[in-house]
Amino acid sequence: MASLSLKHIYKVYPNGAKAVNDFNMEIEDKEFVVLVGPSGCGKSTTLRMIAGLEEISSGEFYIDGVYANNLQPAERDMAMVFQNYALYPHMTIYDNIAFGLRIRKLSKKEIDERVRNAAKILGITEYLNRKPKQMSGGQRQRVALGRAIVREPKVMLLDEPLSNLDAKLRTTMRSEISKLHKRLNTTFIYVTHDQVEAMTMGTIIVVMKDGFVQQIDRPQNLYNYPVNKFVAGFIGTPQMNFFSVTMKKTEGGAEIAFADAEVRVTVPAENLYKLREKYLDGRKKLIIGLRPEDIHIADKKSAAGAKIKVKVANVEEMGSEALVYGDINTDADVIGESNTRIIIKAQSGIALNIGDVIEVTPDTKKLHIFDAETENTLMPHLVEFNDVACSIKDNVISYLGQSKKLPAAMACPDGEGYITISSSAVKITTDGIKASVVGCEQINKKYLIALNAGEKRLYCLADAPCAVGEVYIDIDLKHAAIDTGDFRIDPLSTQSELDADIRVGRYDAAANKVKHARNSEAVCYTQINGVIEELPDSLASKITANYTRREISKRKFRITFSPYGVSISEEGIEGTVEKMLDYGDEKFALVKVGDKSVIVSVGGDVSGKVHLSLDYDKIGVTDARNDIKIV
Ligand code: ADP
Repeated sequence: MASLSLKHIYKVYPNGAKAVNDFNMEIEDKEFVVLVGPSGCGKSTTLRMIAGLEEISSGEFYIDGVYANNLQPAERDMAMVFQNYALYPHMTIYDNIAFGLRIRKLSKKEIDERVRNAAKILGITEYLNRKPKQMSGGQRQRVALGRAIVREPKVMLLDEPLSNLDAKLRTTMRSEISKLHKRLNTTFIYVTHDQVEAMTMGTIIVVMKDGFVQQIDRPQNLYNYPVNKFVAGFIGTPQMNFFSVTMKKTEGGAEIAFADAEVRVTVPAENLYKLREKYLDGRKKLIIGLRPEDIHIADKKSAAGAKIKVKVANVEEMGSEALVYGDINTDADVIGESNTRIIIKAQSGIALNIGDVIEVTPDTKKLHIFDAETENTLMPHLVEFNDVACSIKDNVISYLGQSKKLPAAMACPDGEGYITISSSAVKITTDGIKASVVGCEQINKKYLIALNAGEKRLYCLADAPCAVGEVYIDIDLKHAAIDTGDFRIDPLSTQSELDADIRVGRYDAAANKVKHARNSEAVCYTQINGVIEELPDSLASKITANYTRREISKRKFRITFSPYGVSISEEGIEGTVEKMLDYGDEKFALVKVGDKSVIVSVGGDVSGKVHLSLDYDKIGVTDARNDIKIV
């Protein structure tokens, strides 16, 4: 039993191939984690780094809170099962399973107990005296599992263990492995390229593509809230239907205009609460996604505005259901590729002929919307921003039925437009704007609270849940942007960065230089704009764990920090105050350091030349060359 922590893990192979980029995950004890994605996306590399079979290029890996980057595979207490089960052909099944335990010099009695117990769990007791070649593929894979189980590992690692088996056996073994996970009560990490395997087995799934994690989520969330078009298309069979569209705001919601077919569909406003209004301008290129199971053959009761005509190309009868293949362009010849193709899951036994034109209704509650350019979802599970209509007059902003003086930092000419409020800037209080809580959902470790403020739906991201009922909300304007068309105010930037050199050695004050020192006496320093400062051990050890001294001296680093991770002090990094940002209850200074601008939280007004002092416990460090986050 173990929990694992992967922080900013990267793998760069000696040939320069970046197989894994910034992999971050907290794996809790007893999870069944599935790493899934197309071939070459970095799944096996990640698993092998966890196993200790592949060196971690950068980042930190912890097993039960203990730094484990440099632990040998044998010291990690993990067992791995591979695709090719590699049994010893000359040994009996019993001996194959017992082999590892004999090497570890366990007593004969203990070995016998463990082997028989594993055989019982896997249902292979009667084959213990056979040789591998007398067993089927599925049975041999069970033996390979048995060999892993008897070691009683903290973590079971499985790399495509079922891909050599035929379809029927794969289905059986899938449920066997799930049962095994429940019985063994240990953490499982499982690699597969098969999304069905991932969805049916995983308690948590990591979808990867081209070395990057796309989404880490529970199976149901992956299906309901894919973060981008790739995940949306990867999870679910048949694949989600995608169409290029634009959307325009209407009285009761929005109208979707399909780009490649004469089709329009209306969507009620309540199905678009999570979509920012700026996408409903009728121009912005969007992609909508509709799963085959969320499109229904229309009957007379279906609402007029939501019907789509489909020319039938083919019907696949599956027994339990039928798949209707068609085209929403009814002039199409329904042969060959087109971007107006549609797949619909229908009841089995549906009587349709090729060329028939039918009407279907998409369930717009299940609509997915993606930005055509970035392919990211525009209807996120965790809503980050709220767009609210506002008007400004004499620096008084009116929105959500209230008027408030804008702080000096947000002075804005008169006009009308939108205020964009980050969900974490919406606070539930005892005074302010009247609202009612209509829902509260836990997402990861946060709570997304749905609020109605007048006519408007707002989302608040909070650390604690909130019961349905009447509340008041307050909005932290620092984290809001205002856009009136002619004028734009950005939210306060939460991260500043400075270029830094890092040196390991001994500081020579007279020369203001870091000089060579023996390992035992060497200390880690940053050098930012000519100022050399010692790094605390906790930070230094993370840097020196990833790089040799020589590498450190050759690289460029970036230090990142929030306005609260830096302060004005007597000495330190020199800068010039460009501007004061006055938010009323809080003030910040925009300080120019070299060619960079840094935002600093200050108690009162400052001006002219100042010195900055960084709080090294609150900074981030990035290797600028490869853009690798170290801390
Ligand atoms: P997956 O398991 O998802 O199929 P891998 O983790 O095996 O992917 O590989 C990820 C990427 O790293 C691929 O582009 C692959 O070509 C590359 N790669 C894997 N092993 C090596 C290696 N030993 N040297 C160089 N590149 C490698």
